[in-house]
Amino acid sequence: MNMEVFTYYMPVRVFFGKKELESIGSLTRKLGSKALLVTGKKSMKKLGITDKVVTLLGDNSIKVNVFDEILPNPTDKVVEEGAEIVQREKIDVIIGLGGGSCLDVAKGISVVATYGGNLWDYIGEDKIKGEVIPIIAIPTTAGTGSETTPFGIFTKKEIMRKDALGSSYTFPKISIIDPLLMESMPPELTADTGFDALAHAVEAYISPLANSLSDALSFEAVRLIRNSLVKAVRNGGDLEARGEMALASSMAGMAITQAGVVAGHAFGMSIGGILDTSHGRTVGILLPHIMAHNLSETACKTARLGGALNLSAVGDPAKDSQKVIASIQDMMEEIDFPTRLGALGVNKQNLSEILEDSMRQVDLENNPRKFDRKSAQEFLESIM
Ligand code: NDP
Ligand code: MN
Repeated sequence: MNMEVFTYYMPVRVFFGKKELESIGSLTRKLGSKALLVTGKKSMKKLGITDKVVTLLGDNSIKVNVFDEILPNPTDKVVEEGAEIVQREKIDVIIGLGGGSCLDVAKGISVVATYGGNLWDYIGEDKIKGEVIPIIAIPTTAGTGSETTPFGIFTKKEIMRKDALGSSYTFPKISIIDPLLMESMPPELTADTGFDALAHAVEAYISPLANSLSDALSFEAVRLIRNSLVKAVRNGGDLEARGEMALASSMAGMAITQAGVVAGHAFGMSIGGILDTSHGRTVGILLPHIMAHNLSETACKTARLGGALNLSAVGDPAKDSQKVIASIQDMMEEIDFPTRLGALGVNKQNLSEILEDSMRQVDLENNPRKFDRKSAQEFLESIM
């Protein structure tokens, strides 16, 4: 028997369920008494959730500064601005409330406020060498899994580069995953973020770094997404579907923490950095194409996902893996999800920039079937 060797580390205390947000006050109190609430400009304010969180924190004698400046594809600048507030106000706990962008900014702020310098000093793997100001993550989208990962993803506009930081110290201490917060997502955002979660689950599953634990998480995430994404897109108030998507997103986050992602995310990061596109839509479009491209290395593994998609297998990996890809394409069709890069504004002019950047993305090296510049160009051109 070829016994596996791997390590597993997932130090996030997860609180999952309807109305779990109510416990934010008492949970935060365990970590600090002066909080920075990092959130977006619109939805949470409009829905009264920002005010609600401030009240719940106040009820537990926690002072709160609200930093509601976060936009999609957040920049190093907004992180550094937040870090200044933390240092000036002697904040001792940082709460991210929103989509992955807000959660990631909370992580970035914590790092820069703790150790100083610029955010870009910490980009890369394991550049953070010790404890940071505690982070609490409250996702309002079901996609990035940032609530269970140590990663923060940021854009530096001057160099049009999107890149990640991550270390064992940048996991949230606590994540509150309350599907009620996700009901307000409009259909397109539900679809985009849902496809991000699916891309995480599948890319981690076919990653050379996958192990039995990450596989179990990926497999179940795929099953939940197949069961609930279309429902959640069609009826945002379907709380059961919202709950399954929230769970899937967090499980897929745990899977990528273990196994990483592959070329879909490498190209996706480059496209997002250069064209400021929706992350989920970008990696979603790439997903079936990347799965197909990798089949020479991953047919057996891909075929196995048929079990999560309710497909009957014929026992031939070549055929069964094609059925898996077709099933994901069916899902895309059911919700009118775009399937080509042209839908993102990728064209002949910006393709060479995207290529240049993607050759320097670490996730590209993790792809099962190796890409060089020429094959990457052919691949991207073929899915324009
Ligand atoms: P964003 O956080 O970028 O949010 C997208 C939009 O959705 C915003 O305009 C936001 O606006 C709005 N929004 C958020 N929640 C709701 C809601 N409940 N109802 C209505 N509108 C809402 O989207 P994602 O969650 O997809 O995060 C993407 C980012 O996360 C990218 O930068 C990506 O690279 C990164 N990422 C991080 C990973 C990680 O492990 N850390 C993994 C994968 C991706 P507003 O808040 O103003 O309402
Ligand atoms: Mn992603």
